[in-house]
Amino acid sequence: MDVVTLVIIYVTLFACLVFILLFGEASFFRDGFIGRMHRGLTDSFPHYLHKTLLMICGQRVVRKLDSGSKYLLESRHPLLQIFYLSLITGCIFIFWQNAWPAIPNSHVGKIHVYTVPLMIASVYGSFILASWSNPGVLTRENNDRALSIWEYDHIIFTPKMCRTCQFQKPARSKHCSICKACIAKSDHHCAWINNCVGHLNYRWFLLFLFTTCGIAFYGSYLVLQIFRAEMDKRQIHDLWVMDRITQERSRISFKQKWLYMIHHEMMLAALGIFAALGGIVVLAFICYQLSLVFRGVTTNESFKWDDIDYDIRKGQLRMPRELYDFNHGRHEEDQSTTRAKGNTTATRRKGRKGNEKSHDQERDDYVSIKSIAQIKNIYHGGPWANLMDILFPSPLNV
Ligand SMILES: [Zn+2]
Ligand SMILES: [Zn+2]
Repeated sequence: MDVVTLVIIYVTLFACLVFILLFGEASFFRDGFIGRMHRGLTDSFPHYLHKTLLMICGQRVVRKLDSGSKYLLESRHPLLQIFYLSLITGCIFIFWQNAWPAIPNSHVGKIHVYTVPLMIASVYGSFILASWSNPGVLTRENNDRALSIWEYDHIIFTPKMCRTCQFQKPARSKHCSICKACIAKSDHHCAWINNCVGHLNYRWFLLFLFTTCGIAFYGSYLVLQIFRAEMDKRQIHDLWVMDRITQERSRISFKQKWLYMIHHEMMLAALGIFAALGGIVVLAFICYQLSLVFRGVTTNESFKWDDIDYDIRKGQLRMPRELYDFNHGRHEEDQSTTRAKGNTTATRRKGRKGNEKSHDQERDDYVSIKSIAQIKNIYHGGPWANLMDILFPSPLNV
């Protein structure tokens, strides 16, 4: 099995694993094979690993491992930040040693002497911005402002108190147990930047993703061009190869040329392949994030909508008529009534008890939801408006 086939196998397996971990919980996959695989990887695998370790290493070691994993997963620490910085710096070092001396050449213009340092600076700069910018931490001082920016849709966000911060949680906010704060328009907690991603720093997070993806593809492109220049220099295109068995001579093939180069420039080839693969992974994540932006949902909200979609698919979702009208904008007169209800939320068919109303009355009071398209996401202002909201977020301290 040659290097190319091996790389393809590993990439496919890795892509499947990432897909299962990212989308296995989605309502569409939850009850199927991918959902089962997701539960296997996230529930059963850690459970059996824990049991096996208990048998092999004993309780004391497992307890230490537990507290170690608790620290890794549930507290704020810079380990992944350090890992990212080491990875990027290591790759830049390998590039500097193996590729930089070859620039410029017949395939790489002089402009790259200036763009490479610029690209490197932008990666470190965006990493610092994303890691140390305020994601939109809510305090007693700016909470009223946040409450006035986002109204409750009474579907995925209803007025609730944060017991830790001791104030009313604005719509679209979430309390992060790692940062120990409520974050305005919370997206998710990102361990790579050791920071929450929210209303104020989502743009820096996107910039960080774009520059990481950019440097990865740029690096692999430069490696490719350096290889092409090197092939010309070594006149590889004119080589002949001899078949070991038949002793037949033939011109070197396209695949053989590249295998020859990979064999002679191992370090540079490894860097190029690693950068290209890393770029693909980050690009896939960028596409996912942008699809959420264009739909007007945060990562946190996408999980909430997924749960609602799951209930709809199971035929378990009915919505109070008042809420349905409010959601569809027919709420001018009823607004006060709906708001007064406060916690009016979509009701699951299962578990409703003690209904004194007649069947017909009940049918009028509730709307049966057959598809997620029947529910409007009031935070979706259109792709362009959503993007502008991210690039130029309204300030929280005014
Ligand atoms: Zn809080
Ligand atoms: Zn956080």
